[in-house]
Amino acid sequence: MAYYAGVDLGATNVRAAVADGDGNVISAYDRGTPGGSAGIAVTEAVLECLREACADADIDPAEVRAAGIGSIGPLDLAEGVVTNPANLPDTIDRIPLTGPVGNLIHSDRVFLHNDTNAGVIGQRFYSDRNPDDMVYITISSGIGAGVTVDGNVLTGWDGNAGEVGHMVVDPQGRRTCGCGHDGHWEAYCSGNNIPEFARMLAEEDGGVETSLPLDDPDFSAKDVFENAGLDAFADHVIEQVAHWNTVGVTNVVQAYAPIVVYLGGAVALNNEELVLDPIRERIEDGLLNNVPDVQLTTLGDEIVLKGAVASALTEGTGDVSLAPN
Ligand SMILES: [Zn+2]
Repeated sequence: MAYYAGVDLGATNVRAAVADGDGNVISAYDRGTPGGSAGIAVTEAVLECLREACADADIDPAEVRAAGIGSIGPLDLAEGVVTNPANLPDTIDRIPLTGPVGNLIHSDRVFLHNDTNAGVIGQRFYSDRNPDDMVYITISSGIGAGVTVDGNVLTGWDGNAGEVGHMVVDPQGRRTCGCGHDGHWEAYCSGNNIPEFARMLAEEDGGVETSLPLDDPDFSAKDVFENAGLDAFADHVIEQVAHWNTVGVTNVVQAYAPIVVYLGGAVALNNEELVLDPIRERIEDGLLNNVPDVQLTTLGDEIVLKGAVASALTEGTGDVSLAPN
């Protein structure tokens, strides 16, 4: 039997899976992403997960024909590394990936993608319909997209296309993004930024009556969504988030003309009614292009891992016609 492997390298966790030639996952292993150490420690964690997943599948790593990797960025595709990852400690400046993984599996068929591109590759591979023109958008701690147009996954020259969370949605630029620039989508709507956006809205309104713990350092996006329908200010924040999400998704649809937009990431996965429904209801109003289906990803929080597996099976494309079986 032929085996394929996938790796999901995130800021919090590393996961690896071994799959058969149909993309069925046989075994998986995960662990925390090492923080505060050198990049090579992260490489070692990736290799550990792959070794353990192979051990669980009762195979030698050299039996793996190809591997896909979906990773936090930014990437240097030519070198096969992550460089100066934004969401890991400053001590980590370079994480070698394709070389060490290739050495482990004795194969040069190692495909590296940013996590959202891995996501769209997975969604494409595991979907029955419209695989050639779709967008995957993650709304989690950050916001990003993976895009396939006419069957081509858009990676960009350095692997970093699709950073749509850093598109300007608010021309007034009231919020400064983690990247240092003003008015970016992610600064209003990502899980990490919703609490600060809520505080800003409360200040703009000159103080509000709310049960939300705005002054608590642990105040989170979850608190906002949990108070939907119970707290008028929470509803106001959710409405504002819905507004900027609709602007962001509309811009992406106008640029790439997808037939389906799949949304994933914890904020979308945990709040389909509050996050997806408003986009579904409003997107038509801003579009010249065809109105796409807006759906929750069918792959849940395994989308990057499954996408990495799908990449290994399809020479990095997600195109089912290239799969071995
Ligand atoms: Zn930004």
